[in-house]
Amino acid sequence: MADYYETLGVSKNATQEEIKKAYRKLAIKYHPDKNPGNKEAENKFKDISTAYEVLSDPKKRQQYDQFGSAAFENGGMPPPGGGFGGGAGFDFSDLFGGGGGGGFDFSDLFGGGRRRPATDSVSGSDLRYNLRITFEEAVLGVDRKIVVSRLVKCEKCGGSGAKKGTGRKTCPKCGGSGQTTVSQGFFSIRQTCPQCRGTGKIVENPCEECRGDGRVRVEKTLSIHVPPGVDTGSQLRVSGEGDAGVRGGRSGDLYVFIEVQPSDVFVRNDSDLLCEVPLDIVTAVLGGTVDVPTVTGKATMKVKPGTQSGTIMRIKGKGMPSLRGNGRGDLHVKLKVETPVNLTPDQVKLLESLKSSLGVKNMPLREEFRKKASKFMN
Ligand SMILES: [Zn+2]
Ligand SMILES: [Zn+2]
Repeated sequence: MADYYETLGVSKNATQEEIKKAYRKLAIKYHPDKNPGNKEAENKFKDISTAYEVLSDPKKRQQYDQFGSAAFENGGMPPPGGGFGGGAGFDFSDLFGGGGGGGFDFSDLFGGGRRRPATDSVSGSDLRYNLRITFEEAVLGVDRKIVVSRLVKCEKCGGSGAKKGTGRKTCPKCGGSGQTTVSQGFFSIRQTCPQCRGTGKIVENPCEECRGDGRVRVEKTLSIHVPPGVDTGSQLRVSGEGDAGVRGGRSGDLYVFIEVQPSDVFVRNDSDLLCEVPLDIVTAVLGGTVDVPTVTGKATMKVKPGTQSGTIMRIKGKGMPSLRGNGRGDLHVKLKVETPVNLTPDQVKLLESLKSSLGVKNMPLREEFRKKASKFMN
């Protein structure tokens, strides 16, 4: 994921003014008009423009700070009335002091003159929904109902955006081409027409319901199946459940970003799980059994006599289910020998007599360590 702050060389708490300054400096340096045929400069220019588009907009910047660049690289949350895929981009005019405003279309600038046809349709934006589930739900999978605010076709005007009985006319600003050209200092820029947003046509009498957009915002309840084995960062794509397109444009998709709350018993590592289990000192010495939790219920493990603290034992197939549906990871059980506390005088006496009878052969680790460390223990 790109770090937009790094791209512009500003700190995370840079002011809008600082961001604008940094962008202007870089944009002038890397602008394709100044670096003809330089692919690296072209990419760099795209990167800094993307970064600026997000960071210069307080709302997008907040989303970026919260979710990172994935929200923007995938299409992301739609800004009201816009959308990253929808044509209109950031406003160049306030940066360079020129008039015009409106969007900035990279395909025109870099595509060797290949013009986007001024079609009427606009694709809907992808949407993002953050879903938090428990560890147990990640193990078993879960069905959840979620409420998503999305744009759907306006029924009143049938999605045309025009009042009943009225139509659409050629955009007077761009003459129907969907593009306007603005010269700004040493370079001239072809922009997506701000009035018709590149479609070449405008609504004569906007529909009151959708104010000409052809879409209205509704809350829709969706049933989502979260499969077993998801982890934080897993994404579920729900095809076609993003914002509706305009005038035949395709609908965006809904991306459900999963966040799994950590377990207080298991530590997850991919599909393997680790569980630390306290073991009483007598069982550690004499051997026996210990009950351990697994995601499918209790398991009983044998403990060998003389088991040391920190011993890890593996139970095959008792980890997380695999997302791809083939098998499960393993459960690693780490035994932690517990030192008894709050002893009665009788218990203390027993241990003291045990201590006096313990010899070198009972504690080989201690003996070995003493030999190695002797030079530091004079
Ligand atoms: Zn226009
Ligand atoms: Zn309408």
